Amino acid sequence: MTFEEQWNQFVDKCLHCRACDLADSRQHVVVWRGGIRAPLMILGEGPGADEDRLGKPFVGRSGKLLDLLLSSFGFEEKDYHICNIVKCRPPGNRVPTQEEAARCRSLLAEQLRLVRPSVYLLMGGTAYKYFTGSDLGITKVRGQWIETNGCYVLPTFHPAFVLRDPRNKTLLWQDFAAVRARLEELGFLPPLKV
Ligand code: SF4
Repeated sequence: MTFEEQWNQFVDKCLHCRACDLADSRQHVVVWRGGIRAPLMILGEGPGADEDRLGKPFVGRSGKLLDLLLSSFGFEEKDYHICNIVKCRPPGNRVPTQEEAARCRSLLAEQLRLVRPSVYLLMGGTAYKYFTGSDLGITKVRGQWIETNGCYVLPTFHPAFVLRDPRNKTLLWQDFAAVRARLEELGFLPPLKV
């Protein structure tokens, strides 16, 4: 089977998934946007109302800020793969439960195997918690690299948090600069022209 066929099969499996209760209230299963096999994976918590309506992650106000950061640091669509811990919207934008995250984990694991990123950017406390299994708060761990299985993981703030409290904007920009530098160091991206 070609890579493209494997990817299409994976997406199809996601679109038909009913492994947790979030399937009952969703409009769309939100799988990803960006490149498919990309060196950077950006992980959020779960789809919000706009994402559920349009079937793509980070397309509301948070997505606009994320896109601004990505373009400011010279990222092209092929460089990143954006997805979430859960692929269906938790009603009322609540945090996904442990069980929902656990049920969606096998799909995420398959996604990681196909995308094969070298750098992960975890956006927000929930993405950090469910991805690493740690209960530490995001303000304690943000900006600190974790090295695991030859990959680099950086927890940072969720753009929605920064929109609510713009004092944290500088830290989010710093983290994007660190991700860009890491990808350059690993040879995935050329030095950024300023
Ligand atoms: S959130 Fe994940 S596990 Fe639950 S129904 Fe959607 S795709 Fe399936």
